[in-house]
Amino acid sequence: MSTPVTVLGLGPMGRGMARALLAAGHPTTVWNRTPGRADELVTAGAVPAGSPGAAVAASPLTILSLTDYQAMYDILGDVDLAGRVLVNLSSDTPERTREAATWAAGRGARFVAGGVMVPAPLLGTDAAYVYYSGDEAAFDEYAGVLARIGRPHRLGPDPALAQLYYQANLDMFLTALAGYLHATALVGSAGVSAAEFAPWAADLFDSLSAYLPAAAGHIDSGEHPGTLSTVRMMGATADHVVGASDAAGLHTGLPAAVRDLYDRAVAAGHATDNWTSLIDVIRTP
Ligand code: NDP
Repeated sequence: MSTPVTVLGLGPMGRGMARALLAAGHPTTVWNRTPGRADELVTAGAVPAGSPGAAVAASPLTILSLTDYQAMYDILGDVDLAGRVLVNLSSDTPERTREAATWAAGRGARFVAGGVMVPAPLLGTDAAYVYYSGDEAAFDEYAGVLARIGRPHRLGPDPALAQLYYQANLDMFLTALAGYLHATALVGSAGVSAAEFAPWAADLFDSLSAYLPAAAGHIDSGEHPGTLSTVRMMGATADHVVGASDAAGLHTGLPAAVRDLYDRAVAAGHATDNWTSLIDVIRTP
């Protein structure tokens, strides 16, 4: 028989996880604070639990999909967790993830943290992948079940690692999206529509990954040879972006923050180094 699974938290993500588990034939128990969110899943075969305690008791494995880690404490504060495996796929800081692992161990549970890297509609598809870290034996025991949600990537025993990777990805994602919006507003100041600009933005995003192998080499070696894109040249360009944004009447906070990194790198003596030397300014603000 397929492993029974409990899903706590039925926002778009929790519902998507439960759907994927049900589709793969896992007996799936669900619970959500606000009633009604389980209805569609119950129609699809899920068992609604009357309380968080009943939900956890129903399966050896409980997956949590909540707004943050505080919600886990709110839900499971009085619940017997002895012998259970908790896999928390909610977003929070790496430090709170570590605290949660200690908290769970104190309650006799094994704890795995995860960071889901796709939106709800992609859960259970080939595009879905999830970072995991924490109790490795518990992860290995249930890796096959977790694979129903998305491709699992095990990062190691430190429970903080999955959220560190998740937040690092979101760091790039949020900054890139904000950069795209800012750039679109910039060309928009001349009457260019977002649709007209989109192919050029796509070209830029597509080309970015080509820079990464060399950049990673510079960063890991600590050597930033200024043969091409120097801090001075890139910093001057960053200043031009701020000037263009200002002239267009736009919010300049984002390009000004980027220019600030270049200014600081110049002040730290990196003017003739490669742009990758900005990492020193980021590491020691
Ligand atoms: P929602 O905010 O829609 O759902 C959050 C769930 O948490 C709901 O079931 C909500 O219950 C529950 N909840 C929040 N606080 C409490 C509490 N104090 N006590 C009990 N239950 C609580 O989020 P999503 O489903 O979109 O996301 C879930 C997690 O997945 C988040 O951490 C998010 O950052 C992460 N994530 C989301 C992605 C996305 O594209 N949406 C992609 C990758 C990760 P109730 O219904 O009662 O409010």
